[in-house]
Amino acid sequence: MSFPSSDSTDTRRPVEGLSHSELSAWLDARGLPAYRADQIRGWLFRRRVDSFEAMTDLSRRLRQALAGEFTVGSLSVHRRLESRDGSVKYLFGLHDGGVVETVWIPEPDRVTLCVSTQVGCGLGCTFCATARMGLKRNLTQAEIVDQVLEAQRRCPDGTRISNLVFMGMGEPLANYDATRGALDVITDARSGMGISPRKITVSTVGLLPQMRRLMEETRVNLAISLHSVRDSTRSELMPVNRKYSVSQLLECCRSLPVPRRKRITFEYLLISGVNDLMADAAELAGKLRGIRCKVNLIPFNPHEGSGYSRPKEAVVERFGETLRARGIQTHVRRPRGDDIQAACGQLYHAAEAAPGGALRGVG
Ligand code: SAH
Repeated sequence: MSFPSSDSTDTRRPVEGLSHSELSAWLDARGLPAYRADQIRGWLFRRRVDSFEAMTDLSRRLRQALAGEFTVGSLSVHRRLESRDGSVKYLFGLHDGGVVETVWIPEPDRVTLCVSTQVGCGLGCTFCATARMGLKRNLTQAEIVDQVLEAQRRCPDGTRISNLVFMGMGEPLANYDATRGALDVITDARSGMGISPRKITVSTVGLLPQMRRLMEETRVNLAISLHSVRDSTRSELMPVNRKYSVSQLLECCRSLPVPRRKRITFEYLLISGVNDLMADAAELAGKLRGIRCKVNLIPFNPHEGSGYSRPKEAVVERFGETLRARGIQTHVRRPRGDDIQAACGQLYHAAEAAPGGALRGVG
């Protein structure tokens, strides 16, 4: 592929970062018909070719003009780690030496891809490995889209990605425009990837204005990392709670334009001795009353130096039962890929600042 990597004189942009109208405008400026945009996008997002050369029904002149200004692809594969449970973690290299992680999660009836939206994260949640990196930078729209394209290209038996979760590194709603632009391409049924928004979940710490925008502008599912309904506990775990308190967050949830047949997902991390008492479950159920929602319980996934631990299985079960007994639809999320540090909250790496960004360590 035409990944320009560390050549800093190469000013070409990845073509998959262009919206349909930007590509049409580029064609129009050259006196070319707008339908060429659909054709080019078909090659990119349906057939997933990795060069303009491969777009054989375009004239040579057009292919050369495209290649003069754009690249195809923005990621290189640094590493590919396969878990004993079949999950695959990709470490994708970026043109500036940064690295992001993407996780392929096969299940009997679906394949879910977990994508990243930032290099590192600036929100400082105390239980999350990614937070230790700090925020390096936002990913571009092309870099988000390319995680899906590259993971799909590299699937050996051609199994199709059916579901997408924006639960990798970073806070998607702190990088709203790129996330939104990527969602447009991914869900565009006419000339994009055509993945239904019903199969896509965006997870957020709860940035209220952007959450509302996302619900107004798209039809994707919303997941909110809640982890406690007590302000003191939640602020300790998630500094963002000092900006948007639990009651502001839940009030916002009550007024979000969520379609009638949909529910908001609340993710609730269970950390031993922090938020796993039966009284916490009862309080949680009480606070969620009247919100059309479900709860995903995530037993804490350990990582080096976190200082937290996972509750015993019986505690997790009882917490779930307490919620269910109070009418809250509840699932316990089992960790996937924890042997390759691919589970929730385990995405972290140290990349060298030197050009080329060789990896120092993983996990
Ligand atoms: N910033 C967004 C997207 C990241 S999603 C968000 O916070 O929602 C990652 C999910 O994994 C979040 O629900 C997060 O709270 C959870 N998580 C983070 N660290 C974890 C850990 N060590 N064990 C289990 N889940 C964790």
